[in-house]
Amino acid sequence: MRTQVGIIGSGPSGLLLSQLLHLQGIDSIILERRNQDYVLGRIRAGVLEQGMVNMLREAQVADRMEREGLIHEGFEIAFGDRRHRIDLKKHTGHTVTVYGQTEVTKDLMDARAAIGGQLVYEAQDVRIEELESDAPPCINWAAQWSGPEQPKCHRPQRRWPYRESFS
Ligand SMILES: Cc1cc2nc3c(=O)[nH]c(=O)nc-3n(C[C@H](O)[C@H](O)[C@H](O)COP(=O)(O)OP(=O)(O)OC[C@H]3O[C@@H](n4cnc5c(N)ncnc54)[C@H](O)[C@@H]3O)c2cc1C
Repeated sequence: MRTQVGIIGSGPSGLLLSQLLHLQGIDSIILERRNQDYVLGRIRAGVLEQGMVNMLREAQVADRMEREGLIHEGFEIAFGDRRHRIDLKKHTGHTVTVYGQTEVTKDLMDARAAIGGQLVYEAQDVRIEELESDAPPCINWAAQWSGPEQPKCHRPQRRWPYRESFS
């Protein structure tokens, strides 16, 4: 089967997109320039707004978030000597969920692995080619790894035509 969609980057956006596409029966490949440890160890977000919580549920990757996430109905702003409560639930009807982005990323990676989805780490020089020619467009990249029996830098060129799948 021909890969239909190429996604550049395995942050939460790329991983979530691949999962949503998978649920629609659309095959994809993710190309990530860093390694998995780096992506998983990158500490960033921790507060998920309602829309993202809903989308993770829709993507069927919300089980652990439902168990371990902390629901907050508001927050406080300190000004001078006073604390001011901002009641999100009262004013918007929504809450936020405290659940680390690294955990969201891990859940999405696990979902990707569970379906045997293609995810290439350390993909170097990722570029989209043939966009303006008659040839089918493709994503090209170079793989890189190091190990005792492998060359320090291996650069097979791969092509992934996918125009026909979009039509
Ligand atoms: C300090 C901090 C706190 C934050 N707090 C919150 C919060 O509380 N709540 C919230 O909702 N959001 C928060 N955010 C925002 C949230 O982290 C981002 O919205 C989220 O990371 C965006 O995900 P993304 O997948 O679009 O991009 P990224 O997470 O940046 O992922 C992009 C990926 O693409 C890869 N990549 C880039 N270029 C290439 C290339 N040419 N070839 C191959 N791979 C490539 C990168 O290595 C990376 O892994 C915070 C961000 C920061 C920095």
